[in-house]
Amino acid sequence: MRILVSGAAGFIASHLCDRLIAEGHFVIAFDNYLTGSAANLRHMAGHPSFRFFRHDATEPLPESATSEPLDAVLHLASPASPKDYLEYPIETLDVGSLGTRRMLEAARDHEARFLLTSTSECYGDPLVHPQTETYWGNVNPVGPRSCYDESKRFAEAITMAYHRTHGVRTTIARIFNTYGPRMKLNDGRVVPAFLDQALRNQPLTVFGNGTQTRSFCYVSDLVDGLYRLMLSDERYPVNLGNPREMTILEFAEQIRALTGAAAPILFEPLPEDDPKQRRPDITKARTVLGWEPKIPLEEGLRATVDYFRGVHAVAG
Ligand code: UDP
Repeated sequence: MRILVSGAAGFIASHLCDRLIAEGHFVIAFDNYLTGSAANLRHMAGHPSFRFFRHDATEPLPESATSEPLDAVLHLASPASPKDYLEYPIETLDVGSLGTRRMLEAARDHEARFLLTSTSECYGDPLVHPQTETYWGNVNPVGPRSCYDESKRFAEAITMAYHRTHGVRTTIARIFNTYGPRMKLNDGRVVPAFLDQALRNQPLTVFGNGTQTRSFCYVSDLVDGLYRLMLSDERYPVNLGNPREMTILEFAEQIRALTGAAAPILFEPLPEDDPKQRRPDITKARTVLGWEPKIPLEEGLRATVDYFRGVHAVAG
């Protein structure tokens, strides 16, 4: 297949590009580098099945990207860490709305499959636990996180509208917390934050009292789910994440044990609207995609620690 990928220099998309190429596809990739990093794609330079151009998903696609046939359009572009989308709220809303529409138009023009990477944030601070795809969510529409949550909810809505109105073969992934190599050291998310702090022997900053929960999925598992979903005929959203849930305090202890860090825990204020609990119900992904995560947290974290040790070594 010839596959167009937006946000390709991001953490998840760069791993997805690796998988697409390994599966024998041709990838036409772009990113505006707002939050993505050229380093994530450096190993692809010159690959015969990979083409990259710098581009903002909210702008019209250049003709060179669309003049030849496309079989799939994968829309991954968006700031994704709370720190990033709080810094770029308008850009986040733009890429979820205008950007999604442009990518849907490309899919429609080429009669290509379309994949939207949506988010567990569609469930907001959930009142149903674990979260099933049929739960409509508890989102504050005017809170600080709304730029991300509502952008993705709009993106889901317009994706369904393009399917219903134009018959585009759309798919929607609701991605839960994902971690692994190529996360940005300073993107503020809990995995890079704790690993960075532990490796520098700094206190681990736990927000609130640390009783809020998350469930962490290793990136290769997530990418496998995205790949299967892209090929599927499921039109409604599918949760992709690891159902192993833990409190943030337990997670901090785990990072300390894994890195051997003696650093203390430092409690800091809980950000506004921080969801209190999050765990995917992945019954649908198991049934429809035959998918479930395989990499245990300990193994995934070890690979991630190795990566961050390397980043630290380069940074001196
Ligand atoms: N968190 C924390 N310390 C940090 C960064 C995050 O305790 O240095 C908490 C945050 O408040 C949230 C959880 O860890 O409850 C996951 O945060 P993250 O930013 O990784 O992603 P989210 O799941 O909130 O989108």
